[in-house]
Amino acid sequence: VGSSLPSLEAAVRGRVVTSASELARVGRDGSHLVGRPRAAVVPLDVDDVVAIVRWARRRRVPLVARGGGTSLDGESVPADGAVVVDLAAWNRIVEVRPEEGWARVGPGTVNRDLQARLEPYGAFFPPNPGSWRSSTVGGHVGTNASGPRSFRYGPTRSWIRSVELVLGTGERTQWGSLAPKRSVGPDLLSLFVGSEGTLGIATEVTVRLAPLPEVRRGLVVPVPPGARLGRVARTLAIARGTGLSAIEYLDARCAAELSGPGGLDRAGVGPVLLLELEADGPAEAAARLERIRGALRAAGVDRDPEIHEDADALWTVRGRASVVLDERVGARIREDVAVPLDRVDRLLRAVDRIAAAETVPVYLFGHLGEGNLHPNFVVAPESGRAGRIRSALLRAALSLGGTISGEHGIGALKRGFLAREIGRPGLAVLRAMKRACDPDAILNPGKLYPPDRRAGRSSRSPSGSATPGARPGAPTVASRRSERASRRARSPRRRGARP
Ligand SMILES: Cc1cc2nc3c(=O)[nH]c(=O)nc-3n(C[C@H](O)[C@H](O)[C@H](O)COP(=O)(O)OP(=O)(O)OC[C@H]3O[C@@H](n4cnc5c(N)ncnc54)[C@H](O)[C@@H]3O)c2cc1C
Repeated sequence: VGSSLPSLEAAVRGRVVTSASELARVGRDGSHLVGRPRAAVVPLDVDDVVAIVRWARRRRVPLVARGGGTSLDGESVPADGAVVVDLAAWNRIVEVRPEEGWARVGPGTVNRDLQARLEPYGAFFPPNPGSWRSSTVGGHVGTNASGPRSFRYGPTRSWIRSVELVLGTGERTQWGSLAPKRSVGPDLLSLFVGSEGTLGIATEVTVRLAPLPEVRRGLVVPVPPGARLGRVARTLAIARGTGLSAIEYLDARCAAELSGPGGLDRAGVGPVLLLELEADGPAEAAARLERIRGALRAAGVDRDPEIHEDADALWTVRGRASVVLDERVGARIREDVAVPLDRVDRLLRAVDRIAAAETVPVYLFGHLGEGNLHPNFVVAPESGRAGRIRSALLRAALSLGGTISGEHGIGALKRGFLAREIGRPGLAVLRAMKRACDPDAILNPGKLYPPDRRAGRSSRSPSGSATPGARPGAPTVASRRSERASRRARSPRRRGARP
């Protein structure tokens, strides 16, 4: 494996890193999976990225673009023997044009740094995942990330004007435009957003900016027993003039874990809604708050909101949900499904049924206003039980007209379910696109696309796999070349529970 590295070092001007500690770091993401890359490379410039892709094509070596490494389904876990293209150092905010409504940034720009840079201009970049302190714009493009405020603003896909990228062919290209609007056929840029590093490597991203509202209040609202959450979500979502930008939910278990010093002041009160109200000035905020109270009452929630002047402080608490559960609850599977609002309560009942059938506790939080829930089942991620639970949950979401991923992506863990959602014709289109962009299937193999039966691969689960049909690191595309490339890329192993 190591023998090809001198030729990589000769091909690029950037650093090629092979230290054990660095390879261990880039072998993981926020999931329980672990891969064994042969090297990480920090390209110096776009020519270097082209050189890396050409080098990898010649040798059929898998490449994985990496930003903050916080993805949750193995999206950035490298196949064994892969080279990680580490873009974290590409964090330059190249140009901010608030009057034009955009900023040009390196893909490694951390969300929090971008927001800090934009604030003096009275602007912001709306996607705000809970990981915003360490996740990057390139990673947001890779997973089409969103966050609490996507209730009003939508996901990353809505906030990218253009991307410069190097395709898996080694060609440089730019998708999108600086124009505020555009209608040019099927949108290549939209296809790239959410493609999990499987089509190309973004080298620069132009993000759209939104004006910062003058007032942003966080509201914590206790949910009374028996409230129907779907009805609450729909009533709030369609109420006029509320200025709501986020409608979040924490079940009683999560609310209890997040309560206490530095957290919510709500120990023992049961489930809560976390809302954000935006307004231009205090008078408008007061009027909007009254309308929100009215909508809550109409939905059967008669408790008064607790008001936080600093909405970001509330999202900081909410963003800690995963970390706190890591510390206090430990190993679990963190799911991410979404359904239409009128079926939220049926999804919640399905979650309870699945947890009861498998006798595991479940902690649930999520973006209620978008029907996007994150049930966290406390079960060893590698166990057969975990696989059964995930399978039952994803099937339940699909049977309710929903989706297998609201925001985290597909990665290695859910690719066996992709065809159930997009259908065989849809999968064939995706595969054709993949072949066009990455004919040797070197970019992030084992992610997003399910193993191809026609290429002689079974999509049955390997024993002990967390997900039936998911074979991390296995080939992704039906082609002899991809078969050869993939044979060299052995699966990332699953590592033990994260503490
Ligand atoms: C505590 C915590 C909270 C989270 N909260 C949320 C949330 O609220 N909402 C949400 O949507 N997600 C959330 N996530 C998931 C994750 O943070 C997001 O998916 C985020 O966008 C990943 O960014 P990253 O920089 O870490 O990307 P990485 O993990 O490094 O990469 C993610 C994917 O993008 C690809 N990629 C990275 N850079 C590039 C590039 N330059 N070109 C092409 N492809 C690239 C990678 O190959 C990979 O497939 C959370 C994760 C954690 C750990």
